[in-house]
Amino acid sequence: MAALDGLPPLRDVIQRHGLDAKKALGQNFLLDLNLTQKIARTAGPLDDITVIEVGPGPGGLTRAILALGAKKVVAIERDPRCLPALAEISGHYPGRLDVVEGDALKVDFESLGEGPVRIIANLPYNVGTQLLVNWLLPERWPPFWQSMTLMFQREVALRIVAGADDDHYGRLGVLCGWRTKARLAFDVPPQAFTPPPKVTSTVVHLEPTDNPIPCAVSALEKVTQAAFGQRRKMLRQSLKPIGGEALLGKAGIDPQRRAETLTVEEFCRLANCL
Ligand code: SAM
Repeated sequence: MAALDGLPPLRDVIQRHGLDAKKALGQNFLLDLNLTQKIARTAGPLDDITVIEVGPGPGGLTRAILALGAKKVVAIERDPRCLPALAEISGHYPGRLDVVEGDALKVDFESLGEGPVRIIANLPYNVGTQLLVNWLLPERWPPFWQSMTLMFQREVALRIVAGADDDHYGRLGVLCGWRTKARLAFDVPPQAFTPPPKVTSTVVHLEPTDNPIPCAVSALEKVTQAAFGQRRKMLRQSLKPIGGEALLGKAGIDPQRRAETLTVEEFCRLANCL
């Protein structure tokens, strides 16, 4: 893609700006612009779309998103060392890249983009799950984003798409299953990153469901926390602190079942009986 956007190869960018990867910031960079394009394409057509990207780093994925025609990219980066490299991309795509320096966990995302917004990111592993949960939790639904295309460690990706009776099913699977349609897009091996992480990564694509089962987020959180906090125990035991058998009876759920056997609909029923 160096030929496609005329910008220098990422390896040169990293060297010129002294962007040696910092583990504490979850920095595992993607230097293969074909791969970053594949991730950006997974988000679907980007014309007229504002893309929010968390952690652009030296800008490999940012460049792919811009080359694929996104109207605007708003990128939040915590490491100030990356800003000069990102400024070069901004200069190449005038008016189409805004870089916000700061911690994505503290950003008010709803105020960032105008019009349809899609989130695309190779997330730092240490804050990735928390960011996803934050994007799934607003009371107002549908949310400000039209889709999310996100890279996670494979183990987290499996938890995101897991449903009942799956070993990876847990609080994250219930939350994602309740409010989104989530699918695994493709795996990315460790050697695709610089430096390579220890584990395989996976790109996940999520779209909001139009009509999630009506249910208060806080009640659902309470139920899944209690149920999966002791996932091997029967629900009559694990749910004792929040109502136990009486709650299960009200929701019409067999108290001898275990958390991992309950569907998202059943968790919502329990939350609504709380
Ligand atoms: N997007 C680049 C790529 O694909 O090569 C870099 C991805 S790297 C896995 C994660 C990036 O997130 C790094 O650039 C890191 O500095 C940044 N980062 C880490 N924690 C952050 C936070 N709390 N808020 C914003 N950016 C963060």
